[in-house]
Amino acid sequence: MQITKSSVQTAKGPSEWFTGAVYIDAVAAPGGGSRLSASSVHFTPGARTAWHTHPNGQTIFVTEGVGLAQGRGGPIEVIRPGDRVFFAPGEDHWHGASPTRFMTHIAMLDVDDKGGNATWGDHLSEAEYAAAPSIEGA
Ligand code: MN
Repeated sequence: MQITKSSVQTAKGPSEWFTGAVYIDAVAAPGGGSRLSASSVHFTPGARTAWHTHPNGQTIFVTEGVGLAQGRGGPIEVIRPGDRVFFAPGEDHWHGASPTRFMTHIAMLDVDDKGGNATWGDHLSEAEYAAAPSIEGA
């Protein structure tokens, strides 16, 4: 048993991978035979990831706020606390907050043989993000 006290500093999401202000708290780190990487990711209103893929897929579980997620070629979906989303290995996608609400999710994935967790692509254009449905009543 190993306890990691809540002393690890919250990390700012790098601007190469995120648009807007995003803050990341580590939940589980791979190592010692485990490939599990988990993070609590806090998106401020309007903040979102760039387009990206995960080598072994990813599950996100929304814990707070109102968010958005989209797989390439599909509709933008509104996601709320208690919702979970699985992105298949290699599926191009993004996730983030809605324009007017914070969103926090727990992101979970298995890293690949080299410890890689994602391959990053272009940032969303404002037009792509603006295509989101209204979160009212969604
Ligand atoms: Mn992802």
